[in-house]
Amino acid sequence: MADRLYELTAHELSDLIKSKQASAVEVAQSFVDRIDAVDERVKSYVTTTPELAIEQAKAVDDAIAHGEELGPLAGVPGAIKDNMNTRGVLTTCSSKILYNYKPIYNAAVVDRLATERVVTVGKTNLDEFAMGSSTENSGFFVTHNPWNLDKVPGGSSGGSAAAVAADECAFALGSDTGGSIRQPASFCGVVGMKPTYGRVSRYGLIAFASSLDQIGPLTKDVTDCALVMNAISGKDPCDATSLDVPVPDFTKSLVDNVKGLKIGVPKEFFAQGTDPDVEKAVREAIELLTSLGAEYKDTSMRSAGYGLPVYYIIAPAECSSNLARFDGVRYGLRSKDSSDVISMFNKTREEGFGAEVKQRIMIGTYALSAGYYDAYYLKAQKVRTLLRGEFEKAFEEFDVLITPTSPTVAFGIGELADDPFAMKLADVCTIPVNLAGIPAISLPCGYKNGLPIGLQIMAKGLDEETLLRVAYTFEQHTDYHKNKPKL
Ligand code: GLN
Repeated sequence: MADRLYELTAHELSDLIKSKQASAVEVAQSFVDRIDAVDERVKSYVTTTPELAIEQAKAVDDAIAHGEELGPLAGVPGAIKDNMNTRGVLTTCSSKILYNYKPIYNAAVVDRLATERVVTVGKTNLDEFAMGSSTENSGFFVTHNPWNLDKVPGGSSGGSAAAVAADECAFALGSDTGGSIRQPASFCGVVGMKPTYGRVSRYGLIAFASSLDQIGPLTKDVTDCALVMNAISGKDPCDATSLDVPVPDFTKSLVDNVKGLKIGVPKEFFAQGTDPDVEKAVREAIELLTSLGAEYKDTSMRSAGYGLPVYYIIAPAECSSNLARFDGVRYGLRSKDSSDVISMFNKTREEGFGAEVKQRIMIGTYALSAGYYDAYYLKAQKVRTLLRGEFEKAFEEFDVLITPTSPTVAFGIGELADDPFAMKLADVCTIPVNLAGIPAISLPCGYKNGLPIGLQIMAKGLDEETLLRVAYTFEQHTDYHKNKPKL
């Protein structure tokens, strides 16, 4: 057992550490060694922090030796997506423009994990500034799917999902603007939750699209998801959009019971392009839940079909504003050969940003310019309101909506790289959730050609508890979460 500690879940590790069957240092060392053994192939991490991890683990062991009461994540090794600020540790957003940026403060979630005495093993790769679905847009390198190294891990939190699937951390944090936690969780066969907008503080998360961004956990099982949610949720005075509502103990939702649960299955989420094997696995999952006492009904959500075009106006509009701050003056890269300040701004941005980021800044700037604002941005906001209303209506009738997380399993590295639109179509099931601000979870529900299939469950705003209950019930009656890729 001791030599394969990295295979365990966060809650299993916690039990071992608390009962002194393993020290936090042994656990940390096991993950450090695991990263050394496999990350050359998987490439989950932009930066690893082994010395910091061992130092934090020693502090946990000391605290235990002194009889301190510690929380359930103390000594558990976690990884952080590289768009969340970590004081003194490189935070690059996988962009050349921030290749050398070391923040002077921690993101709120990073501080919360530190309070829980989580051990941090590194910063994970992403699509540059979280724009993409495969990590192929990383300014540095592509992450590989641990289930098949020729496939993408999904994105943008592909490094976080791959690190969890490859046992390079016990859990990771990701961010989700249009699916970036759930889709990589689906591709890598792990659990990923996008909480309700405002449930988790965004302070210190480097903004992509502020009205859509939300931080959440990627974990090996649903129990760990609840534990990480307990650690990171709650009002933060530094984020005005964080919600001042009580945070339940999410572990109380880990009950095996879906009796009387009303499931809606909206047909727009099984649109053209859905792999029949994915649809089959999702329908079988729904059947399993109905065999356990849930009821289901097919339904329709007309405006969900407009999710993609609305998102691809609103997200670029917000990103064009958020990314204006990267100008060579305050952070990161500054172009060397410029004669005056304007050319310094231009050259820095030209050299520092990748093609996808530039394209989105241009689309966003266009959509916000005088004369086009009403035609694009304002119209998109109106459709967003319709979509939100349609979800509210659906949740008057249903407790949860169930769909695939992604219409397909992981695609090949390079397979969609020349066709940015094909890749964007793949976000059709996840994006409406961000536009509505509601929570959703993805968990494994099958395989195709050895690649995991993801089940997406959505609930009304602030009802993460129902998501966890349904996901936990499903997990109790299936074995998908126990399977691991062979590396
Ligand atoms: N794939 C989507 C995009 O490219 C969503 C990304 C995200 O959630 N950060 O924008």
